[in-house]
Amino acid sequence: MNAATATNEFLGHPKGLYVCFLTEMWERFAFYGMKALLFLYLTKYHLFNDSNGYVLLGTYAGLAYALPLLGGIIADRWLGMRKAVLFGGLLLVLGQLGMAYTGNAATGTVGAAVQDATAIQVMYLSLALIAVGVGFLKPNISTIVGRLYPENDPRRDSGFTIFYMGINIGAALSSLIVAYIGENFGWGYGFALGGVMMALGLVQFMAGQKHLMGQAEPPNPSALTKGVEGAIYALGFVTTLIVWWILQTKINFEPLTRLAGGHQVTLTEVVAVAMGTGLVVWFGIFMFSGITALERGRMILLMLLITVSALFWGIYEQSYGTWVAFAERGMDRTTFGIEWTAGQTTSFGAIFVILFSPLFALLWPKLDRHGLNPSLTAKFGWALILCGLATGLLMLAAQKPGADGLVSLWWMIAAYAVLVLGEMMLSPIGLSAVTTLSVPRVVGMMMGAWFLASAFGEMVAGRFGTWAEVNPNADGTYDIANALAVYGNVFGKLLWIGVIAGIVMLLIAPIMKRIAKGPNSREPSELVPTNWF
Ligand code: GLN
Repeated sequence: MNAATATNEFLGHPKGLYVCFLTEMWERFAFYGMKALLFLYLTKYHLFNDSNGYVLLGTYAGLAYALPLLGGIIADRWLGMRKAVLFGGLLLVLGQLGMAYTGNAATGTVGAAVQDATAIQVMYLSLALIAVGVGFLKPNISTIVGRLYPENDPRRDSGFTIFYMGINIGAALSSLIVAYIGENFGWGYGFALGGVMMALGLVQFMAGQKHLMGQAEPPNPSALTKGVEGAIYALGFVTTLIVWWILQTKINFEPLTRLAGGHQVTLTEVVAVAMGTGLVVWFGIFMFSGITALERGRMILLMLLITVSALFWGIYEQSYGTWVAFAERGMDRTTFGIEWTAGQTTSFGAIFVILFSPLFALLWPKLDRHGLNPSLTAKFGWALILCGLATGLLMLAAQKPGADGLVSLWWMIAAYAVLVLGEMMLSPIGLSAVTTLSVPRVVGMMMGAWFLASAFGEMVAGRFGTWAEVNPNADGTYDIANALAVYGNVFGKLLWIGVIAGIVMLLIAPIMKRIAKGPNSREPSELVPTNWF
C-alpha cells in the first residue's frame, strides 16, 4: 500500500466509504422517520380516512422507489454522482422542512372533516420534493461506494456491508427518535428533525467529498456546461411539480374503481403500471435479440424474482401501514417498562436486520460448504412464506387480546423477527442476483427494475391496506374489538397469500434452477451473497 492510499484510508477502508455511510444513514433517518409518522399524521391530524391514508403512504413511497431509475440515468450520463447527491440532499431537506409546516388540524370527524387545504397542498409538495430527492440521492450514493474500490478489491463486499449497516442504523434511530418526538410533541417537530439531520448529513458530505477520490465526477465534464447543469436542476424542480400533481390525482373511471374494491385508483399507480408494462415489452424483445439460451434462462429467472419481490414488499410494507394502525389502536404498547409509541414499533424491523445480518453472513457460506444452500427461487419462496407467517402471528394476536381488550406488544416483536428472517432471504440476495444473473450490458436497467418492484410493492401494500379500513366513533375513539376483528381478517388473508405464493415458488424451484444453470456451472447466485446487510 503506498503512502497516498494509506492517508486516504481509515480502519482499512477508503475514507469516502464513511462519508457515504453517514450521508445514507441520515437520508434513511429522514425517510424512515417520515414513513413511521405518515399514516398516523394523515389519519390523526388531517383526519384522512384509513384507505386514503394507506394509499397515499403507498403511492408516495412507491414514487420514492421508482424515481431512482431516472436519478441513476441522469447521474450516469451527465451529472455525475457527487452533484446528484448534493442536489437530491437539498431537495430532501426542503421536503422535510416543508412537512414541518402542518397548518391547522382538521376538525369534525373522519369522512366529514374540515381540512386545512393549504397545509395539505404544502404536504403533497413536500412529499414530491422528498420522492424526487431520494431519486437523485439513493441510487447514486450506493454507486459511489462501489467505485471507491478498484475492480476485484476483496474489501468491496465488506464495504457494502458497512454501508448497509448505516441504512438500518439510520432507520432504527429515526423510528425511535423521530416517531417519539412527532407523536408526543408535535408532528412538525418530528419532520423538522428529519430535515435538520439530513442537512447535517449533507454538510458532512460537502466537507468529506474530497475523499471520494474523483470517482463521482461527471462522466464527460466538457459536455456538462453551466447551461446543461442548470437545465438538469430546473428539470428536477419541474419533475417535483409534476410529481406534486400526480401524487394527489385520482382517476375517475368506474371499472378501475370497481377493480380496486370501490376505492379510486391514483395516477401514480397508472404511471407505475405503464412503466412496468414498458419493462415487460422491452424484456420480451430483449429475449429474442441474439442472446444465448443460458443468458435467456438467467434473465427469465431474474424477471421472476423481480416480479415476486413486488408481492413480498406488498406484504412486508404493511409494517408501516396496517401494523402501525394495529399498534396504535389495538395494542398495549408497554414493555421493558417503556410505553412505545405506535410509530416507534417500526424500529423493531431495522433492529432485527442489524442483529440478524452477521448471522446470515455466516450461515450462507456454511450451508454452501455442505451443499445445502437453497436455490434463488427457493430462497424467495421461503421469504414469502416467512412474511406470510409473520402476518399470521399478528392474525393470532388479534384473536387473543388480554383482559383489557388490548394485544401484547410481544406479538409484534415476534412478528418482526419472522418478517426480517424473510427479508434476509430476499433483499440482499435479490441485489446480488441482479448483478450475477443479468446480461452485463443491461445490469443498470435491471437494478432499476429491482427498485421498481419495491415501488410496486409499496403501492400493492397501500391497496392491501384498503381492506383494513376502520372508522373511528364520533368522539374519535375506536371500537377496539371491531378493529381487532378487521385486522385479524386482513392478516389472515395476507398469511395465505404469502404462504401459497411461497409454496408455488418452492415447487417451481427445480425447474428454474435447471434453466439458469449452464452445462458445467452452478446457478450463479447460489454463490454466497455477502454484500448486503
Ligand atoms: N431497507 C432497504 C433500504 O431502505 C431496502 C428496501 C427496499 O428495497 N424496498 O434501502
